[in-house]
Amino acid sequence: MSQLAESKGIILSSRNYKEKDKLVKIFTESSGKMMFYIKGIHRQNQPLAPALLPFTEAIYIGQFKNEGLSFLNSVKEVHAFRKIQEDIFLSGYGTYLLNLVDAAIEDRQYDPHLFQFTQQALQRMDQGDDPEIITNIFEIQILQRFGISPIWTHCGVCGETQGKFDYSSKYGGILCEQHWHLDHHRYHADPRAVYFVRMFSAISYDRISGINVKEETKQAIRQLIDQLYEEYVGIHLKSKKFIDQMKSWEHVLKKTEIPEKSSNEESTEN
Ligand SMILES: [Zn+2]
Repeated sequence: MSQLAESKGIILSSRNYKEKDKLVKIFTESSGKMMFYIKGIHRQNQPLAPALLPFTEAIYIGQFKNEGLSFLNSVKEVHAFRKIQEDIFLSGYGTYLLNLVDAAIEDRQYDPHLFQFTQQALQRMDQGDDPEIITNIFEIQILQRFGISPIWTHCGVCGETQGKFDYSSKYGGILCEQHWHLDHHRYHADPRAVYFVRMFSAISYDRISGINVKEETKQAIRQLIDQLYEEYVGIHLKSKKFIDQMKSWEHVLKKTEIPEKSSNEESTEN
């Protein structure tokens, strides 16, 4: 079965196939993620080429097959997330988000909500919002697609909504300080990290502009989310490893871009 269809889509990944062809995975709004077989992509003036680059969205038109590979006939309204394409740090975060989408849903699983969520995350990143916060929100909210719904709204014992909290696997959610003693294996997470993850679990991307998180707290959030993923999701993506490593050289690289600041720092060190 196949049908001529058109849908908005976001490129998830692509790889070369044989000498001249490509297999491109596209997350379509109407039919979920699907693998497309593109013939002769390396030929000059292949009209589809710009629409198949990483971090691109478009309306893709072709034969959407119910099984096996699908085929593209044409594209329109191609939009590239240019900043993400051109910035190695943003590409790192963006790739990780797209890999999470790929891991979270089955082929052809209709999920327009996740489609829009992914689109918004990329738009925000492309507009210059904090990629780490965008990524953290994405990680927390996509947990549901992996079948995990921790309770972030209130203490699992007494229902408390204010104050310091920690995460407890035993209760499948947060515990207020009064009830920390009930679970010795609680995460012992930084309460500030739990505060932000609670916020991230319920926030929409159009409300993130004002959020500022200190570097130290970002690290604590990273730790908490890593612990959740380790316990509940258990996938180890190369792109995640890349952004973890990136943290160490991002700092060095960005410093050299600001000559004034680095020379000041040098003089105080000397
Ligand atoms: Zn409590």
